[in-house]
Amino acid sequence: MTLRELEPDKSAVIESVGGDGALRQHLLDMGMIPGAELTVMKYAPMGDPMEIKIHGYELTLRLAEAEQIVIREAEKKQEKESGFSGKHEAHPGLGESGKFHPKGSGDPLPEGEILTFALVGNQNSGKTTLFNCLTGSNQHVGNFPGVTVDRKDGRIKGHPETLITDLPGIYSMSPYSSEEIVSRNFVLNEKPKAIINIVDATNIERNLYLTMQLLEMDIPVVVALNMMDELTANGGVINVNMMEKLLGVPVVLISAAKGAGIEELVSHAVHIARYQEKPLKQDFCDESLYGGSVHRSIHAIIHLIQDHAVEKKMPLRFAAEKVIEGDELVISGLGLDRNEIETMEHIVLQMEKERGLDRSAAMADMRFAYIEKVCDLAVKKPKESRERIRSEKIDRILTGKYTAIPVFIAIMGLVFWLTFNVIGAWLQGLLEMGIDALASSTDRMLTNANVNEALHGLIIDGIFSGVGSVLSFLPIIVTLFFFLSLLEDSGYIARVAFVMDKLLRKIGLSGRSIVPMLIGFGCTVPAVMATRTLPSERDRRMTILLTPFMSCSAKLPIYAFFVSAFFPGRGWLIITGLYLLGIVTGILVAFLYRGTMFKGAAVPFVMELPNYRMPGIKNVAQLLWEKARDFLQRAFSVILIATIVVWLLKNFDLHLNLTADSQNSILAVISGLIAPIMVPVGLGDWRICTSLICGILAKESVVSTMKILFENNAASVLSPLSAAALLVFSLLYTPCIAAVASIRRELGHKWAVSVVLWQCAVAWMAALIVRLIGMLLGLG
Ligand code: GDP
Ligand code: MG
Repeated sequence: MTLRELEPDKSAVIESVGGDGALRQHLLDMGMIPGAELTVMKYAPMGDPMEIKIHGYELTLRLAEAEQIVIREAEKKQEKESGFSGKHEAHPGLGESGKFHPKGSGDPLPEGEILTFALVGNQNSGKTTLFNCLTGSNQHVGNFPGVTVDRKDGRIKGHPETLITDLPGIYSMSPYSSEEIVSRNFVLNEKPKAIINIVDATNIERNLYLTMQLLEMDIPVVVALNMMDELTANGGVINVNMMEKLLGVPVVLISAAKGAGIEELVSHAVHIARYQEKPLKQDFCDESLYGGSVHRSIHAIIHLIQDHAVEKKMPLRFAAEKVIEGDELVISGLGLDRNEIETMEHIVLQMEKERGLDRSAAMADMRFAYIEKVCDLAVKKPKESRERIRSEKIDRILTGKYTAIPVFIAIMGLVFWLTFNVIGAWLQGLLEMGIDALASSTDRMLTNANVNEALHGLIIDGIFSGVGSVLSFLPIIVTLFFFLSLLEDSGYIARVAFVMDKLLRKIGLSGRSIVPMLIGFGCTVPAVMATRTLPSERDRRMTILLTPFMSCSAKLPIYAFFVSAFFPGRGWLIITGLYLLGIVTGILVAFLYRGTMFKGAAVPFVMELPNYRMPGIKNVAQLLWEKARDFLQRAFSVILIATIVVWLLKNFDLHLNLTADSQNSILAVISGLIAPIMVPVGLGDWRICTSLICGILAKESVVSTMKILFENNAASVLSPLSAAALLVFSLLYTPCIAAVASIRRELGHKWAVSVVLWQCAVAWMAALIVRLIGMLLGLG
């Protein structure tokens, strides 16, 4: 039978894994190998995907993939008696027992050479937390697979001679998504002096799979067993000395979140890097297993490729295993000739025959077999952890069949309500009062000091009303990011992806795309960057093109400005409507893309569901501070300059004389060129056109510009219908310059230009529809 037919709470043993290519390799790397035992946890509310437990962690899988996995139903295996008594043993300090770091021997790197470290580990193993802890910097930490999307560098505190790089999480050295390639290439090509391999001790079997492959890189490695606080609290014990012996590298117990064990880790890391102490063991293929078939083939291939690997500076054993797995990048990188490739094919075929497994499965199995041995001898697993039990309880509601979607809607509703009506709005009120008070006292000061009238105007009507109106949105934006980061940090967004996968598949995407889209409600720039976690290029492109339709927080000032001027009392309704309109337009556009540019099937959805964790106050605070700082920087750079330029252009005519009537100003002339296009949608007024142009710099500028140009009497110039058309246009037209730049970085020049033109066209059409409907209803 196949995995698809297995019912919740039933266990089975995998017999074979079908499919091919990168996905199959990924499934194997995640531990779905023949002989592994798994249990079905549940199905998503809409019946697809499913969640299974394997090697002690949880994984989502679509039914289509589950269908390719042949299983044999089995009773849940009783926990085997462990070969480790669980007795705690002291871990000798650096150099104490002389096991790894013989004192006074070795051949240190010259003084002054920078010790470069790569921080490598699975997703959610705590890399970023450790990085922040080591460097004292404040990168964003999240409890969603793939929050680190780019590498970040820093120096270890107190060690100016070091440089440590935080890399995106990977599960194996066979890259599956574009960010995983970043990590692999870093280790392979940039040759760090040492690797700090962070291992989630509560999930040790899956994490050690990567460790096995890192040990083959011929680079010094120190293993940091993280989350020890959680492990020990649940009765787990690890025999570090035994583990060191089995892995051949120093192992240090740490808790990145609690800051425990960090000093010891640093001393080992610096030491192995300085003395270039490479792993003592690389050979994990057991000669005695399966008649030695796997062992023999690996060693045969090692001999065959040795000269190539040396010439290309590729770690030998790593290269041999990748050749067996059929990794195209490595095979072409080695520059093997036809004959050699054929010889190796024979060796591998022979191995497959003897072993009774195909090449990829045989390699994965070899690694997991060794891991099993390590765990058996060195790990006393914790009882089902409190965190796990708690997660399962929470999941019963948050991903329950009938509760999941209502709860999602309720949570998002609550977030927006609290942001816009309660907390954010209240703080905004306070800030506005402050700004007004400052403006009027400055006004009095300037009057008393008899400052030049033009300058006075610039400061009060230009800068204060323009920048001030934008600035007052700081609290709302920070509040929105606060809630989004709580959702992300706690692990909830990963569940949303699980629940929503089937819906998103209808528009041709996978559940993973929900993350960038939710971030898009905050700001398109990080949302576009977050798409790098998507494993398929097609999904990534399509998600990038759709995120700008999610109304970003910079558009809020526009909504608020018009709502208070034209639709007082109905603000909540209209703003919600605009958010929904953005989503609906995104869905329609997605259907269009799916039928045209992005044909083909949605990618598989294989994702780990992390335990729910309390978001750390420090992390959240750091994130908020960063967002606030970004926003303030924008307000006082782009928006301030735009405001001043607009004010000058508005007050001077083409002959550079001060004019009282802004109709004659330079600004009116420039905008007059664009106005004809906007006449059909009822937005032909030059002041509106100018504001929209300024909005391309930063969406908030639409409001600051209007404040200057309309001098607070917008209501007398615009009809409510035009205001509605303008709101819709602002919602949909080109993303701001920063967002376009990030789209360009991800997709290239052509796409960025098309996004700008295409969204303007969509916005224009939508505004026209609004206007036509309004006129039909007799408004306007
Ligand atoms: P990354 O994906 O590997 O960069 O992982 P992060 O640093 O973003 O951390 C993932 C989650 O694990 C976050 O919710 C952290 O708060 C949490 N975490 C990290 N280190 C520890 C630790 O030592 N103990 C516990 N209990 N939680 C931790
Ligand atoms: Mg990270």
